[in-house]
Amino acid sequence: MKRVYNFSAGPSCLPEEVLKECAAEMLDYQGTGQSVMEMSHRSKAYEPIIQDAEAMVRKLMNVPDNYKVLFLQGGASTQFAMVAENLGVKKGKAAYINTGVWSKKAIAEAKKLGVQVDVIATSEDKNFSYIPRVEKITGDYDYVYICFNNTIMGTHYEYIPDTGNIPLVADISSCVLSEPLDVTKFGVLFAGAQKNLAPAGVTLVIIREDLIPEECRPGTPTMLMYKTHAENGSMYNTPPCYTIYVLGKVLHWVEKNGGAEGMGKRNHEKADYLYNFLDNSDFYHATTEKGSRSLMNVPFLTKYSTGATDDASVAKEKEINDKFVKEATAAGLVNLKGHRLVGGMRASIYNAMGLDGVKALVDFMKKFADENK
Ligand SMILES: *Cc1c(COP(=O)(O)O)cnc(C)c1O
Repeated sequence: MKRVYNFSAGPSCLPEEVLKECAAEMLDYQGTGQSVMEMSHRSKAYEPIIQDAEAMVRKLMNVPDNYKVLFLQGGASTQFAMVAENLGVKKGKAAYINTGVWSKKAIAEAKKLGVQVDVIATSEDKNFSYIPRVEKITGDYDYVYICFNNTIMGTHYEYIPDTGNIPLVADISSCVLSEPLDVTKFGVLFAGAQKNLAPAGVTLVIIREDLIPEECRPGTPTMLMYKTHAENGSMYNTPPCYTIYVLGKVLHWVEKNGGAEGMGKRNHEKADYLYNFLDNSDFYHATTEKGSRSLMNVPFLTKYSTGATDDASVAKEKEINDKFVKEATAAGLVNLKGHRLVGGMRASIYNAMGLDGVKALVDFMKKFADENK
């Protein structure tokens, strides 16, 4: 068996230890004679699994008692609607910061549901290569919405906007538990699990209890009300049982490796290694501005990405990018193709990726640069 270094933006690599544990328990979970996949979510064996997962989220993220921790389905994308349906009620008005695709989708969904959206800042002027600095936000808003780490653009907030009494909502799908985060600064945090927590299928939602409304916007389906899930311990309907089980194991792995602080240290080391290399290279460059760079998603271009649109330049750029991805794959470094909105390559270096993987990538990049000068 040969494992690769997997730089996928999501679903992404999981700690090998966790996969091994899952494999060992696949046919017989702790003497039950069943796989966790086959169990009733209301069984004696399963209950402690979801309870432990919640306890681990609370412990590792330091979640205060007045917040609910929910395990939902529908991905982070369903949260774009749930946030608007549940929070956009009193004034029917919300402020959004637009930092690229994921916030654009959230904006579109809120508008579709009839919430009046003010886009109070955007980084569209420079193809979303930076995070706008909006330190203080005031206004007649039900909530303020940000995407804390833009997975596609490779940008990340290095500050938390001060919204005073207005609840701050953040999509932390691609940076959850990548470093310590002060939950008390937020009203709602949510994350699709498939980047940093688990396989696809579960969405983690952390919501301050007083923000869970009795009444949502008119016509909100039962399944899209936070209340439904908060009152039923995420068991109103069948939760994604197996994914939650893996999530629990990943969180124990995170704890063993130093918790959020340990992850932060490890992730800064990895990201610094890669960005330092990019910033000192005359062949590659990072696409994001310093001060806005993601620890988790690192898009980069080669010197052949000149911005020129003539056929020969475009063909050369494509040839080099394709060659890079093909040769990297052959070297056991997979899923490095960039997102079409940025081009070039993207290395996603989530919690489960070790420094060894980043070093292997940089070694390959050096060799590739030498051969393609
Ligand atoms: C991946 C991602 C999403 C979409 O998640 P789904 O679970 O596929 O709906 C939303 N926001 C961010 C920041 C992401 O990285």
